[in-house]
Amino acid sequence: MPKKESLKNYQKKRNFTKTPEPSGVKIKKKKTKKPIFVIQKHAASHLHYDLRLEIEDVLVSWAVPKGPSTNPKEKRLAMRTEDHPIDYANFEGVIPEGQYGAGTVMVWDYGTYKNIKKKGDKLVPMEQCLKNGQIEVWLYGKKLQGGYVLHLFKKDEDAWLLIKMKDDKADARRNPTSTENKSALTNRTMTEIKREEE
Ligand code: MN
Repeated sequence: MPKKESLKNYQKKRNFTKTPEPSGVKIKKKKTKKPIFVIQKHAASHLHYDLRLEIEDVLVSWAVPKGPSTNPKEKRLAMRTEDHPIDYANFEGVIPEGQYGAGTVMVWDYGTYKNIKKKGDKLVPMEQCLKNGQIEVWLYGKKLQGGYVLHLFKKDEDAWLLIKMKDDKADARRNPTSTENKSALTNRTMTEIKREEE
């Protein structure tokens, strides 16, 4: 799908005179050529984490109810959601009451990533990985590093699994979603973001 088309769903759900979220109308230039990722902690009606990967000029997105794990034995459900504009990666703030996704948003982690999905000795392009429902990326985040797999397991529901790969960045005892609670962008807690941005 062309990028502009793929943001229509995002734009339809939101009223940009009421929410501070980016409209995605103007695509801003990024600082780096490398593809980026972001994980946002989102205290909506249910607290969850949103994983977003840059693929073809948009942020392809999944809502991960329990957030990412650093333990390869833990499979985390990741429900595909609408594509977001690239500059959403810098969005930290409060979506007002009554608006879509109302609640506090924190940039929990961000960085660049590398596609590592190969068929034979050739890399499979990210766009193809997405279509195939088989994504393998190496994250260079502030909190998360190393290989992660995203695997589509229920096609009709766009339900995926997010799994840490077994590599030297795996750590079964770390549990980052419960112990690493501050913004990777501003070092603020959810309470501080709410207090300062609302
Ligand atoms: Mn969300």
